[in-house]
Parts: sequence; structure tokens; C-alpha cells
Amino acid sequence: MTSADFKEAAELLREGKLVAFPTETVYGLGGDAFDPTASARIYAAKGRPSDNPLIVHIADIKELEKLCVDVPEEAYLLADKFWPGPLTMIMKKADCIPKETTGGLDTVAIRMPSHPIARRLIQETGLPIAAPSANASGRPSTTKAEHVIEDLNGRIEMIIDGGSSDIGLESTIVDLTVKPVQILRPGYITIEMLKGVIPDIVYDKAVLKRERNDSIVARAPGMKYRHYAPKGELVIFEGEPENVMNAVLDATERKLEEGYVVGILASEEFAGDYVAKISRRWPVLGTGNGSKREPYALIEVVGSRDNEETIAANLFDKLRDFDAKEIPYIFGECFPGDNLGAAIMNRLVKAAGYHIEKV
Ligand code: AMP
Ligand code: MG
Repeated sequence: MTSADFKEAAELLREGKLVAFPTETVYGLGGDAFDPTASARIYAAKGRPSDNPLIVHIADIKELEKLCVDVPEEAYLLADKFWPGPLTMIMKKADCIPKETTGGLDTVAIRMPSHPIARRLIQETGLPIAAPSANASGRPSTTKAEHVIEDLNGRIEMIIDGGSSDIGLESTIVDLTVKPVQILRPGYITIEMLKGVIPDIVYDKAVLKRERNDSIVARAPGMKYRHYAPKGELVIFEGEPENVMNAVLDATERKLEEGYVVGILASEEFAGDYVAKISRRWPVLGTGNGSKREPYALIEVVGSRDNEETIAANLFDKLRDFDAKEIPYIFGECFPGDNLGAAIMNRLVKAAGYHIEKV
């Protein structure tokens, strides 16, 4: 990005146009947060329901006082510790933020990203930038410019390619308008980290929801929709690691026998065994002999069970790969739900439409 590139992007944003840009979490689809028309364009480009509020991105803490009213002390403590970075805070909005940007709510979600391109773009524009994830509504979020091209090419004015997102999962969202403060969406900033600043912070009940029929409704409007989902049917297995591996293998072989192509969302630790066992009878893509005319298994390694950051970074990319190859059935492993695992499992469970099999 040259200075001229930044100027061009900022000019588009000031004219009410849309620019997708990289952040450390996922790619964002940016528009002028003060401009109701720009917000309407964001909803239209994504196919997003207009009751689902946008996150407003800033590059300077001074903006908080302009965009929000009654900024609580906790906001400054959290900002001090986690900004710039993958934390979004919900506060009461000031009148300058139109309801079109907040999905009709009186509150606004604010984040200060750390990605150098995002920061410079916001500074150059001189405006707060409303930016939801730059994916088509319902699809996995975008962690590469190629993903944004897949979903939004032709619908927005510019896409800035900044390579792969470091974190790969959307920001942690905390609601500061309730007592105790609630986590509405888990992310890279974990509950343990947040407790260092707000000891009594809790999860919104919907974050831990595991059953589709549960009547709990998410307090972040966006978390109630089917989300992150690949086009194929994803089932995840939960239990002791060995049971999980066997269940993935059984489910895969059953579908192969029925004549389907099957995807496996595999940990690095289990992938070798999947390949060894399945390749006795079936072609496995990646080992050279898969073809579209006969059933085969596509094994995608999402990351290491010992390094959750790798799983977070690759999850959406791998889910998109299954879509690109039109895989009708996908089987995957559950991961431990603490620390970053809480954010990973939150996305995975939703991607699977709560289809979890206990084994
Ligand atoms: P995305 O920008 O795609 O990461 O989605 C933004 C998320 O933040 C969605 O789940 C929204 O529902 C949530 N969100 C944004 N603003 C608010 C708000 N004022 N109150 C509650 N949730 C919000
Ligand atoms: Mg999103």
C-alpha cells in the first residue's frame, strides 16, 4: 500500500463507498459509520439482515467520548490493556451514530484494530469506520483477500489485500451496558484475560449454547443467525480423543459406501491415522489418487490440538475449501473448550448448526 493507495481508499470511504480491508481478526467490509447510506450499502453487499448491528472501528481512544455517552471506567481499563487489538466493547451510543449503523439499537459496538493497514486507513479517512466481517451473510468469515473476492467481488468499490489474517476469528465482544459485564462473543481475548480487569465478567448464556432447540436467544443480534456455515452438512464429534477419531472414521466410511465424497476437518495429530485407515479402501485427496468420478475423502488439516492458535487461524479457510470442492458431508473433531478453544468451539458449533454427536 502506497500513500496514494491509502488516499484513494480513504476518498472512496468519505464518498460513502465500501472498501474491504485486512484486520488482525478477519477482513472487514468498511463504510463511513456516520453515513446511513453507507451502512445500508454494507447490509446490501453482504445480504445481511438490517437488524444485525455493525462494529465501528476507530484509531484513537479520544473517539470513544464522541461516539458513546456515559463511557464507563471499565472501558478505559479494557482499552488500556487490550487496544489496539481484538476486543469490541458495547456502550450507549451518541446521537452522531445513526441507527442504520447499529441495527436500530441505542448501543454501539466499538473496536480499535491493531492491523497497520486498518489503522492507517481509519486515520487517513478521518472517520469512524463501520465494518462487519467482509463475507456474504451466513458464510464463513473471510481471512484472505481471495475469500473477499469470492463473496463480494463486483458488489463493493475496493478490496485491500493484506495477506492472511493473523488471528482468524472475529473479535471478542463485551457488553459494558449490563451488570455484571457480559461476553457476547468469545474471541482471542479470553474470559481469563478479561477477568484480570473485570473479575465478575460472565458469558452471555447463548455463548455456551450447544443444543439447537434450546430457547436461549443471543444478545448480540448477529449471533442468533445460522453463521459460519459451509454449504455441506457438517457434523462434529465430541468425546475422548480416541472415540472421536473412530467416530469420524466410521461416519466417513459410511458416507463413502453410499457413494458420497466426504470431507474431514482434521487435527494435525489425527490426520495421519485418517489417511492410513481410509486409504486402504478409498482414494484420499492429497495422496494423489482422488478423482471426481468416484467417492473420495478430502482430509483438511485445520491445525494442531496442542496449538489452538493454528486452528483459529485456519478454521474459516478450511471450511471454505470444502465449499470450493462442493463436499456434501463433512466430519470434524471437537476441541477443548477453554481459553481460545471457547472461541473455536463457538464458531464450529454454529457452523455445524449445533449438530454435535457425543461419542
Ligand atoms: P461482525 O461485524 O460480522 O463481526 O458482526 C458484528 C457482531 O457484533 C454481530 O454479532 C452483532 O450482532 C454484534 N454487535 C454489534 N453491535 C452490537 C450491539 N450494539 N449490541 C449487541 N451486539 C452487537
Ligand atoms: Mg460476521
